[in-house]
Amino acid sequence: MGYGIAIVGSGPSGLYMAEELLKHFPEASIDIIDALPTPYGLVRGGIAPDHQTTKAVVRAFERTFARRNVRFLGNVEVGRDLSYEELKAAYDLVVLSIGAARDRRLGIPGEDTPGVYGAAAFVGWYNGHPQHRDLSPLLDGEALAVVGNGNVALDVVRVVAKTPAELSDSDIAAHAQRALAAARFRDLYVIGRRRPLDASFTPLELAEFGQLERCGVVVHDARLTNDVVPETSEKELKVKLRNLEILRRFAASGVDGKPCRVHFVFQAAPVEVLGGERVRALVLERTRVEEGRAVRTGERFELPVDVVVAAIGYTTVPFPGVPFDDSRGVIANDEGYVEPGVYAAGWCKHGPRGVVGTNRTDAQQLTKRILTGLESTPPPGGKPGGVLIDRLLSRRAVRVVDFARWQRIDAAEVACAAPGKPREKFVTIQEMLEIE
Ligand code: NAP
Repeated sequence: MGYGIAIVGSGPSGLYMAEELLKHFPEASIDIIDALPTPYGLVRGGIAPDHQTTKAVVRAFERTFARRNVRFLGNVEVGRDLSYEELKAAYDLVVLSIGAARDRRLGIPGEDTPGVYGAAAFVGWYNGHPQHRDLSPLLDGEALAVVGNGNVALDVVRVVAKTPAELSDSDIAAHAQRALAAARFRDLYVIGRRRPLDASFTPLELAEFGQLERCGVVVHDARLTNDVVPETSEKELKVKLRNLEILRRFAASGVDGKPCRVHFVFQAAPVEVLGGERVRALVLERTRVEEGRAVRTGERFELPVDVVVAAIGYTTVPFPGVPFDDSRGVIANDEGYVEPGVYAAGWCKHGPRGVVGTNRTDAQQLTKRILTGLESTPPPGGKPGGVLIDRLLSRRAVRVVDFARWQRIDAAEVACAAPGKPREKFVTIQEMLEIE
């Protein structure tokens, strides 16, 4: 008899965990539970719709779901349909891989003005996440600012910057495709509070701005120098120098008569959003960098913008009963260990960092950690496993979406896509559940 294992969250961290655990426990029965009827977490709802090659990782995840001892329990929300206590009572091992779905707040006056959005909501909106499909961002202005210098910030600006033709082979949600096609932005700002060297975006993503059909790039006030802190690793240094090289190239080439501009503004910290009914401007304060930190200088300036998107990181949304580390915004854990029989994996363990593939290495490490903790885990077979969960879900009339049903939803999305688009996503749970 094998272990009964629940993995909560069917994104990359959960799915790599399933694969790693099966290497060590081939007889285990693994239930992968997700609140949505659709699997794959950020691969579906986070990765930019125009980055289709990154989404090809789902082919590998499909092979995990094809295993005889792996089930998908979609449309099952822990905290609503099942409790954390019930999971612990049912399974020998529970792995929480629930990601980090909540936007960090800027913490500045005016943050709640209409026209200010968090990146999780904005990205969720254009990616057709059911929770964010009704965001209806205000896109009728001329200027938009994205705060943050990570890859999420670049994703947001690039998607907004692209023309309908440039998005025609993406899987952007139809409502966002229409809204962005009607938008008339002329200035898109990417705001970093530190220097170009300190940015966490990566060269491949940065270089894409050099190929936009209607947008040129302006690099503002940037000290494009190589004064890297000595402890920077060789790998990091290579990335940073490559970023600098690309920014220098942008600075040298100008906007080339294009009607829209993407501005990179560095060493500017957001201090206030102005506007009553809706955003009128973002107030920024110049910074200098001391010991790696952005220190404000007192010199302020106003950027007249109509929309502000804060792409400054995410925190985990816990469910009741799960120990939580408020200061870090993650599930309280010690290298993944939460409490006997319970582990955390991925962004809910260590915060939002790394790319899809990083989760594979993380899963290998966490599996090792689980193996060392096995002495304190009772032998397999002592708990009822998925049988108890099935009974509870049936009693509560939860409409569980299994993997075969997801495949039918998937096929229906592909079937109704416009020519060139890989799929047209269903954006309500209702629509998804109508596919029998
Ligand atoms: P991130 O890389 O950590 O970037 C967050 C940015 O927000 C940083 O530039 C940070 O500046 C800034 N920030 C934080 N608090 C701020 C504040 N109060 N005011 C102004 N700026 C603030 O996070 P992310 O962009 O959300 O990405 C999350 C992870 O997903 C990353 O590992 C990323 O590489 C990955 N991702 C990858 C891709 C891709 O590969 N194409 C696409 C999207 C996301 P400081 O550095 O000064 O703190």
